[in-house]
Amino acid sequence: MHADRDVIIIGAGMTGLAAAYHMARGGFSYTILEAAGDLGGVWRSHRWHGARCDSDFVKYSFGFRPHLSDSCLQPREKIHAYLGDVADEFGMRRHIRFGARVLRAAFDTRERLWTVSTSAGEFRARFLVNGNGYFADEPYVPALPGMGGFGGEIVHTSHLDAGRSFPGQHVVLIGSGATAVCCAPELARVCKSLVMLQRSPSYIYEIDNRAGALVRLAQRLHRAGVPGALTALRAGLQLKDDLVFLTFRRFPAVARAFFRRHWLREVGERALREHFTPRYNPWEQRIAVAIGFKAQLRRGAFSIRTAEIERFERSSIRLKNGERLPCDVCVLATGLNLRFFNFALEVDGRPIALEGINFYKGLMVGGIPNYFHPMGSWHSAWTQRLEPNLRLAVRILQHMRSRGFDVVSIPRRELAAAPGITPGYVMRALATLPRLEGTRDLPSIDNVVASRFRAASFAFA
Ligand SMILES: Cc1cc2nc3c(=O)[nH]c(=O)nc-3n(C[C@H](O)[C@H](O)[C@H](O)COP(=O)(O)OP(=O)(O)OC[C@H]3O[C@@H](n4cnc5c(N)ncnc54)[C@H](O)[C@@H]3O)c2cc1C
Repeated sequence: MHADRDVIIIGAGMTGLAAAYHMARGGFSYTILEAAGDLGGVWRSHRWHGARCDSDFVKYSFGFRPHLSDSCLQPREKIHAYLGDVADEFGMRRHIRFGARVLRAAFDTRERLWTVSTSAGEFRARFLVNGNGYFADEPYVPALPGMGGFGGEIVHTSHLDAGRSFPGQHVVLIGSGATAVCCAPELARVCKSLVMLQRSPSYIYEIDNRAGALVRLAQRLHRAGVPGALTALRAGLQLKDDLVFLTFRRFPAVARAFFRRHWLREVGERALREHFTPRYNPWEQRIAVAIGFKAQLRRGAFSIRTAEIERFERSSIRLKNGERLPCDVCVLATGLNLRFFNFALEVDGRPIALEGINFYKGLMVGGIPNYFHPMGSWHSAWTQRLEPNLRLAVRILQHMRSRGFDVVSIPRRELAAAPGITPGYVMRALATLPRLEGTRDLPSIDNVVASRFRAASFAFA
């Protein structure tokens, strides 16, 4: 048996497209298998009001094709369009098999080949790059008392389309994480009233979204053909992210004071305590970045309640503090479920137990040969670790090509779970999550140290 290409890439989201670029650049042929009918991953599928990134897009866009703009954060549609442009520019579309959902991937050690079974037939390659994302198809929907008897509509943001409006309707948006914070100011424009209902507060940081002087200068230099201007900017922004992360984690009192100052003048002492003072410390969970949140709140376009739900009633939500919120439509911004492997994996006919598997540098997993699973960073822009990891994968393949090796792997090991951040979606899945090793989980350091190729770190055959 032989393969028609070197690498099969699963998924045509940001990870799959970045993998395609780096593999082609390294001289390796590839096919992308994508379950959906279009590329873009989450930037195709998340269509709710206000869906956007919260990482500076000049840093979150690909290093090989940075996105230039006067705005820091970009809406979903622009990111989706950008990914389409990247695919066109680098001739990726002809390598994508849309509508091919991977069901099973089996490695045969004797043949040194992956056979990938999909809804559109079988494909073979020597190497597999898994870019299937890390969210399950179905989002997290908490079981709230009385939901079944509610007479209005309940819709999760994952199933909400920004084209919808709710004229004359009272909408309650449940959640306090990044999704709720992005969604509230926009959803407020298309309904009669909006309440953002949170069980407990999150840290929210409001920005004005205009690119700063340094970003504009670097972009001007880049346009003028000055090499390295944007690379330096992106490295600087990453360093800033990592330093903020470390400082907030190391000095929580300083971090709490920072957020207090950020909100006190805007909302006053009482609302600050009630709605903007989380139980946990900054950067134990991702910090939600807001645009236009303060202005819409000030304008009364929406209001916030912090309370537990007692039960849903026919046309309202009763809170444990006794308040009753009129509600025609309840939008759940209650988050997603994590799922790192979206299909079955086998080696020599034996299914691999994927729960708690060791995850070396966020690139290779224990005991699965010729398999790469490039992962980004939790606390910063995904691409900042993704691309160095992909360059490492290419370096490994080049080493194998030059030395005549066919198989690369790392051993399976038992490790304790030690997540870098601890939001609900991580804690809910903790027992099953891959266990990261061989990285400090700080891209500024990892990109210099951990993603450097050392042949001795891998087993070649
Ligand atoms: C609303 C939102 C905002 C975000 N904002 C940021 C941000 O600001 N910064 C940041 O760093 N990250 C952000 N993220 C995280 C984001 O998920 C990652 O940054 C990144 O886009 C993940 O890309 P991916 O290609 O790995 O996964 P996905 O985008 O999930 O793409 C996976 C692809 O694989 C396909 N697929 C899945 N299973 C199969 C299968 N079995 N067979 C074939 N194809 C399959 C899917 O259809 C999909 O196209 C955000 C996520 C969301 C939802």
